[in-house]
Amino acid sequence: MPNKLPANGFSVRKLPKTENTFRFSQDNSHKQEARFEVFDPATNQVWGFVTVDNTQRGPGLGGIRMLPDVSLNEVNRLAHVMTLKNSAACLPYGGGKSGLKVANQNFYKDRQQKNLLMEKWADALFEIDKYIPAADMGTDEYDVQIIQENHTRKLRQKNHHRGGSGRPEEYGGIPLDGWELTAHGLYAAALTLEELLEDFQLNNSKVVIQGFGNVGGPTAVKLNQKGALVVGASDIHCALWNPKGLDLDELSRIRKQEGGLSNYSQRVERKFDPKNLDWLLEVPCDILVPAARPDAITAKNIDRIDCRIILQGANTPSSKPVEYYLMHRKKLISLTDFIVNAGGVIGCAVERQMTQDKDYSEKVKTHGTRAYTENLIFNTVSKNVREIFNRIKGDFIFRDAATELALERINSKEIWL
Ligand code: NAD
Repeated sequence: MPNKLPANGFSVRKLPKTENTFRFSQDNSHKQEARFEVFDPATNQVWGFVTVDNTQRGPGLGGIRMLPDVSLNEVNRLAHVMTLKNSAACLPYGGGKSGLKVANQNFYKDRQQKNLLMEKWADALFEIDKYIPAADMGTDEYDVQIIQENHTRKLRQKNHHRGGSGRPEEYGGIPLDGWELTAHGLYAAALTLEELLEDFQLNNSKVVIQGFGNVGGPTAVKLNQKGALVVGASDIHCALWNPKGLDLDELSRIRKQEGGLSNYSQRVERKFDPKNLDWLLEVPCDILVPAARPDAITAKNIDRIDCRIILQGANTPSSKPVEYYLMHRKKLISLTDFIVNAGGVIGCAVERQMTQDKDYSEKVKTHGTRAYTENLIFNTVSKNVREIFNRIKGDFIFRDAATELALERINSKEIWL
């Protein structure tokens, strides 16, 4: 596992094209446009991957995942999800994703070390002109700002089409996590479901959040504001269950502390250690929100999932066969990741449009940038959830109808900004 920064920076090499075998995709003919490996030329050690999935609607926009075990396969899957997400939301972007495989905690905790890494990563990304980075697990808006400034220096112009998106507010960006934009989309989906399902309401519903981070934490708070009771929450340190409800103020306060949710001070019915975090997924509830890593729900636990609705905060938290089983055998609706968690990337698209189009920027500012972005997210997610419900027929599950919608829009010129 790479630990020391490469003295002379990274090199980038293109990987040979291979057929894709996406487990969840109905688009079996799909081929990714380009995949790259980023490596240290002195040692040949691979540090990361960049996948540009599809650029029919525009450059491939998607986050940088920095984790010790991120793999090319994970990056490929996520890049395809980004194509579907950007297309379904009618954004002028295709799909892309990158992964940085870093184990050394200094690169996460020491801002100076991380800045140096991001400068070198930005040099590498500059060579891949069809990829626009954003933040994802392990990276944040300040990392994106470094990439933006690096590319600005290289291009010697301020308003350009490279760099990244989802930057800090103080630099004129739209901070996805600071403004809780992805959570806002999940909230919109939940409110829309209330209207679509006669016997479902948020008030007094029980919610479990797997991954109480930037997506999971604010989603819990927003659902709670509509009367939902959050009975379970987890992070990488522990999982907490209290059928009478957890204290969200405390959870929100401790989630970014060292040790995260293990600092929770109040009584709980059960507390699961890191080896048994996934037991929380089996807690009886109305809404389960997986908001951590891929494949939370698989054949291993499918029969023990005991909720009514799954709101997919994470990307690829389950697969199409799993969702078939959940819907047809257990009558459980799973709302597809690339439809309901599009809030963050919609924010990225608004930010980029604002830097490139003065009139658009003025219009957005007149409404208030955050209010405008939240409104766009709410309307996009809500409209798509409704349209997908209308398309569900016969054997179709939510993911089938969502994929059909996204694939249709890849070729359309329609833009919602
Ligand atoms: P984050 O790092 O802020 O939060 C992730 C949380 O999951 C952390 O609390 C972490 O401790 C926890 N976690 C990790 N592994 C776990 C496990 N096995 N069990 C329980 N908890 C675990 O990341 P985030 O930005 O909230 O992203 C979460 C997911 O949502 C990712 O899949 C990401 O791709 C997806 N997503 C994020 C955004 C966004 O705007 N941040 C947008 C779309 C999708």
